Amino acid sequence: MPGDLLFIPGPVTCAPEVLSAMAQPMVNHRGEQFAGALRRVREKLARIYQTQGEVLVLGGSGTGGLEAAVVSLFSPGDLLLSCPIGNFGKRLASIARAHGAQLELLETEPGHGLDPQRLAARLREDREHRIAGILLTHNETSTGVQNDMAALSRAMEGHPALRVIDSVSGLGGSHMPMDELGFDAVVGAPQKVLAAPPGLAFVALSARACDALARAKTPRFYFDLAKARELGADGQTPWTPPVSQVFALDVALDRYLAEGAERVYARHAAHAAAIREGVQRLGLRLFGDARYPSPTVVTMLVPAGIDPAAVLRALRERHGVVLSGGQGELKGKVFRMGTMGAITLADIQRAIAALGEVLQALGYQPLPLAR
Ligand code: PLP
Repeated sequence: MPGDLLFIPGPVTCAPEVLSAMAQPMVNHRGEQFAGALRRVREKLARIYQTQGEVLVLGGSGTGGLEAAVVSLFSPGDLLLSCPIGNFGKRLASIARAHGAQLELLETEPGHGLDPQRLAARLREDREHRIAGILLTHNETSTGVQNDMAALSRAMEGHPALRVIDSVSGLGGSHMPMDELGFDAVVGAPQKVLAAPPGLAFVALSARACDALARAKTPRFYFDLAKARELGADGQTPWTPPVSQVFALDVALDRYLAEGAERVYARHAAHAAAIREGVQRLGLRLFGDARYPSPTVVTMLVPAGIDPAAVLRALRERHGVVLSGGQGELKGKVFRMGTMGAITLADIQRAIAALGEVLQALGYQPLPLAR
């Protein structure tokens, strides 16, 4: 049964063989078959992260991975420098605040990337190294902006704080070599670039982060990365894992690695370019600083006088095309289109044509294209 054309920035359309992997018979999650699948998945993820460190696989979702990183690496009262560039960055700050960290915000207006010089300047001021952790977003899904992670990595050089990165909608979609950039905990999820079903989170840890697990005093139980690490060595998880999701991810990672990282990056960049060009041809304006374009999410402004909810409803009901609206302060102001998953350039053309038809039916008058 073909589903809708999913253009939300996750969960994304999965290939049929990824979905059918979930229909495999259930196995003993403490037995050899599951241990083999978990080991394969962790090893393949480490290649995608470009890390010699450990990748832990947790039941949950991206948010659970972020919570696990915060509670397992830090203690109540630790000073964390949080650098949100949108809604998901703010959520990471809220998680840390909820667990008793002392938060300092280095805020950026939504639509922009974090200025590496501002980060470097703040860290230079911290001569006593009071800042224990730096919280960054790789790819901000709420705005369609991707931070320049290589420049941010250089900006953090020489400061000992642990670097925690939310790469939920970035992981695997562009070049971000974790070890080379000196990141300590990088959180990902299967339902984005990797094009597998939701239900898992990944946390990749550097050696420094593994040492920090023993020192962190934040109360924790389910999302304890020290426990996940201990059991992971035996191909197990502390709690009953989403077995079928791990089977599906195993197949999705094979597809990713068979395509090759460089081709995956190029595919996402080409999809993003096709969407940007298509929506501009409709006369819509893109949202966000063009110096920091996300390859996985494209954001455009809702034209004046158009009801965004009516557009999203008509797209889904009349054309089977599903887009996302805005979040937080961008609610009602933007549409967002993901570039991820088993979609083609032809699907993108179909979705853009449908968007044009729906907008016109709702009275949208495109401005003539600037020459
Ligand atoms: N961080 C980013 C950048 C995201 O895009 C998302 C989800 O879209 C999350 C965190 C939260 O992940 P989840 O919804 O899997 O908990």
